[in-house]
Parts: sequence; C-alpha cells; structure tokens
Amino acid sequence: MPKPTIIILGGGISGLTLAYTLLPYMHLFNLHLIEKEETVGGWMGTDHSTGFFFEKGPRVFRKDRSHHLLSLIHRLGLSEEVINVSPQGRKRYVWDGGRLKKMPQLSWGLIKGIFRDLREPPSCSHDESVWDFACRRFNAEVASEIFDPVVTGIYGGDSKHLSFQSCFPLYAKLECKYGSLIKGMIKERNSFNSALFGLKRGTESLINQLKMKLTSYLHLQEEVLAITEIGDQFEIKTSQGVYFADHLFSALPPQVIGKLLIPELCQIALKGVVAVHLGYHQKVLHQEGFGYLTRMSSQEEAMGVIFDSNAFLEHNKTEEETRLTVKLKDETLSDEEAVASALRVIHKHLKIKATPDKVLITRAEGVFPQLHVGYSTWIQEVLHIMQQRSPYCTLSGNYLEGVSVNDCIAYSQKMALQYLQKKGIVCSTP
Ligand SMILES: Cc1cc2nc3c(=O)[nH]c(=O)nc-3n(C[C@H](O)[C@H](O)[C@H](O)COP(=O)(O)OP(=O)(O)OC[C@H]3O[C@@H](n4cnc5c(N)ncnc54)[C@H](O)[C@@H]3O)c2cc1C
Repeated sequence: MPKPTIIILGGGISGLTLAYTLLPYMHLFNLHLIEKEETVGGWMGTDHSTGFFFEKGPRVFRKDRSHHLLSLIHRLGLSEEVINVSPQGRKRYVWDGGRLKKMPQLSWGLIKGIFRDLREPPSCSHDESVWDFACRRFNAEVASEIFDPVVTGIYGGDSKHLSFQSCFPLYAKLECKYGSLIKGMIKERNSFNSALFGLKRGTESLINQLKMKLTSYLHLQEEVLAITEIGDQFEIKTSQGVYFADHLFSALPPQVIGKLLIPELCQIALKGVVAVHLGYHQKVLHQEGFGYLTRMSSQEEAMGVIFDSNAFLEHNKTEEETRLTVKLKDETLSDEEAVASALRVIHKHLKIKATPDKVLITRAEGVFPQLHVGYSTWIQEVLHIMQQRSPYCTLSGNYLEGVSVNDCIAYSQKMALQYLQKKGIVCSTP
C-alpha cells in the first residue's frame, strides 16, 4: 500500500508547527510543506540588514500565556535562548490627554471600576464588544484607558467592534466562574505572570531550528495557485507543479485559502500594520519602559511605539544605541510617507528630533483578523460546513483560536494530533 500523502500549505509558524508535530510519524506518510516565499516563518523573522537588530513581526511573549511556545522552544533545544525583558523595559504606557501615562494608572476611575466589578452580577450568555464588556463590569474610563489601547496593540482593531469572548476568552471564563474578573484574577493569581520574554538571537533562531528539522519536506518559492477536490483527494496546482494530497492542512492566511477553497473565509475582515524601525547610534530616548499604545479611535497616526533598545539589552550592539519600532495605523502609506509619519510621531510623543541612522520598513498586510462580536459562533459554523463539504481538509492559522504565536502553535498541535487520532495512530491528546 502506498503511504498517504499529507500536504501542508503555508510555512508560517502555524504550518511549521503542523509539520513538526507530524514529524515523528513520517514513516507512515509522505509530507510536503508548500511555501511561496524563499524562506519559512511567515511574519516571524529577525532582520540584521541595517546593522541594528530588528524583529520584523512578533518579538515578545507573556510567560503565563506561552506554555506551548515555551515547550516548543525547549523541545528544539533553545531553552537558553529565552531572555526576559530588562528591568528598564517593564513599564508600559498609554498616550492619553497629550502625555504618556503609566498603564495601568491608579485613578479614581480605576478604583471605582474595580469596586463595581466586585459587586456586578456576571452575564455569561451573550457575546459583546470588548468596550461594552469593560463598561458593563468597570466603567468607560477603564474601557478607554486600559481595554481600548490593549485591543489596538494586539489586534490593531476597534474595541467597540471586536468580540470580548473571542479576544479575551480567558477573562470571559473568569467572569463566569467567579462572578467577577478581579475576583477570578485574585483566585487564580498563581496562573498569572505578565512578565515578558523574547529570544536572544531573535525569533529567527526558532524558525531556523524548525526549518533545519523539516528541511527535506519543504518546497520553497512555490505559490499555491489552485486547489481542486477530486473524489477523496485534493489536486494542488502550484507555480512549480501539481501535487495530490490525501489530507490537506491549510496554514494559509484566511483570504488566501478563502479564494482557493473556502469562500466563506473571505468574509473575515483583516487589519494590517506598517512598522517603521528606527535605529540610532546614540541615546535619543529618555523614557524608560517597553513602549506605549494609543487608542484606535484617537486621531494619532501610530498604534504605538516599542522601545526595543530598552526591552532587550542583549539585542543592542552598543550601550549607546536606540532602537524604536513605530507601528502605524494607515497601511496605504508609501515608504516615504511612512517614515515621515513615524518621525512626526516620535517627535510629538517622545520629543525626539534626531535623524535616525538607519530605517527599515516592514509591512504586514492583513495580519490581524478582526474578530467581531459573534465571531466564535460564526467560525464554528464555517468549520462545521467545511467538515461536511471537505472532510479531508484541516485549517489552522491565527484566525481560529487566537492571534498570538502561542495560540497558533497550540491550535496547530491540536489539529495535527486530532488527525493522528482519527487515523488511530495516537490514542488521546496529551
Ligand atoms: C508586526 C507584528 C507584530 C506581532 N507581534 C506579536 C507578538 O509580539 N507576540 C505574538 O505572540 N504575536 C505577534 N504577532 C502575531 C503573530 O506573529 C501572527 O499571528 C503569527 O505569526 C501568524 O502565523 P501563521 O503561520 O498563522 O500565519 P503567517 O505567518 O501569515 O503564515 C502564512 C504563510 O503562508 C504563506 N503563503 C501565503 N499565500 C501563499 C500561497 N498562495 N502559496 C504558498 N504559501 C503562501 C505566507 O508566505 C506565509 O509564510 C505579530 C504580528 C505582526 C505582523
């Protein structure tokens, strides 16, 4: 009997994790991972081209929300790469009322909000926007000063439209279980640790290690152009040839697999970000801290600024250098406009007038799925329809159960193990 063929589409962290989870069983399958770029990693990667250390996409991870990522790092023999955010990189700010305010700022609004949350009965039955949740349990001040900028930072989206259940499932569960978010956070305080970490040689060290393990299964610079279901198989046409799969895993962005196979996914609204990385050989930043966020609804040009040179001292080439990443809201800006906008932002917010020695622009078009109110019910329906229509196809990616790298790893591992269980190869999900 010929071995069944598994094809994974997309070599971002979701696709790489699928392949790595299936790797121990490769004596039972043929495996191909198809990626259109010349290397894998998707949004994850580290850039050294300017002489400064810049992460192109993700760079920090919360310790308490990264069990899957940390366990992957450990299994890949990279535990020594894990570095903590430096003490001078811990404070976080929000740009509010014309100044940087420490977040969270102890204010009457916050104190009143906490008392309200402790008294307010829970409401677990319906989904609502992040903004509505924060106003219901706390007050508009807490919604505007804490929840709104956090949503901007993680999803590049508007807290008045995004779903609380989809964006913060853990907090939604705490409200239902303990009747109050604050009570839940106190009761489960041992599982909260907001400390942040990164990787000494950057996220590229994780990607390179996965690439090395999977190298014989990778097909790089092959763009998937068409997918056709023929009986129990899929025919996949790429820019280089044709493949036939007995099982197809898609780790492509939703609009790409939407156009190729599952049109419903084209309905997912996406937001992108233009990141302008600025490198200076001198100290131009006088603030401590990790960086700051703005509100999506504000007129500010940036979603926020990360003080990279404060966050991870290990990534600085000299003690004097300054590295900043300005995340801009407007994806349509040309490179020149983006740099001008970033310089305006740091001049206005940080009083930095100096000309950067190096500039790098990275564009992450459509990276953040906008999980609007009702999203979790809608996506479950789509997955159900898809399972009826195409039972030999499995989806993974950051639009399914969370946008963080840890969420992508967790979901891909779950999907790969479900497949192995269905095939009777492993007994139960560990
Ligand atoms: C600027 C930025 C900062 C971020 N910061 C953080 C952070 O600090 N912490 C955190 O946890 N997360 C962060 N994220 C989010 C996180 O990086 C992403 O959600 C995650 O990397 C998505 O991985 P993925 O594999 O699902 O998708 P992708 O990385 O998008 O991978 C999809 C892959 O499919 C390939 N592809 C597309 N079309 C085709 C085709 N037709 N044929 C073949 N291949 C194709 C692409 O080239 C890509 O490699 C950040 C993201 C960005 C952009």
